[in-house]
Amino acid sequence: MPDPDAIARLIMQLRQHGIRDARVLEAIEKTPRELFVEDDWQAQAWEDTALPIACGQTISQPYIVAFMTEQLDVQPHHRVLEVGTGSGYQAAILARLARRVFSVERHRPLLEQARRRFRALGLENIETRLGDGMRGWPEAAPFDRIIVTAAARQPPPALLEQLAQGGVMLIPLDDPLHDYQQLVRIRHTPQGFERETLLPVRFVPLLPGMPRRENASETIRQQADDNAERNGEA
Ligand code: SAH
Repeated sequence: MPDPDAIARLIMQLRQHGIRDARVLEAIEKTPRELFVEDDWQAQAWEDTALPIACGQTISQPYIVAFMTEQLDVQPHHRVLEVGTGSGYQAAILARLARRVFSVERHRPLLEQARRRFRALGLENIETRLGDGMRGWPEAAPFDRIIVTAAARQPPPALLEQLAQGGVMLIPLDDPLHDYQQLVRIRHTPQGFERETLLPVRFVPLLPGMPRRENASETIRQQADDNAERNGEA
């Protein structure tokens, strides 16, 4: 069971770091993060830190989840696309704020685990798909909001196409001069796509296609594969 003091402490820290939206803070308070972190990290579940999950991926730091959710400005009637389900934590937060959440993940073990968590929490407005999220989810488009939780070189064209007129997308983009990325907000306006840089961040890479092996016990090798793919060695 989570320590109520740990939850209160995290919410206080998020406020101190500038998170103001009461709906976002409430969603974080009510979403049991301990359900989304591995057994080895239970003691850190409510600390403001990113943690390792299966398949060499990470569950984002609560501040980044809160910041992105706040900046996304999700409304109750929105259809939201998430690319990179990972642990499912960000999707669970979005599900409390939006009408419907569509979340795509390329690692089967992660997706299956996330689905079990959504079921356990009774979150019925999340649809998930195993696949390459760089292609979006054309059958469910257009989306009012798109959130990409892995870092790309450029915004994938399919995602821009699937962003509704007036829609907003958040995506971490590689900064060619640094080993971190910039979180960028893209608005689809009648004049075109407007970009705005929000914050330096550090996410795992957005990778094209599907992993070559899919076995939860091969995490380390998978990670090496991912790095090779990213470096164009695949
Ligand atoms: N939102 C997650 C954080 C996920 S980490 C959470 O709350 O836990 C980023 C995730 O993006 C990883 O699980 C990774 O496998 C996934 N990913 C990377 N490239 C992808 C792609 N092209 N399509 C779908 N998922 C992708």
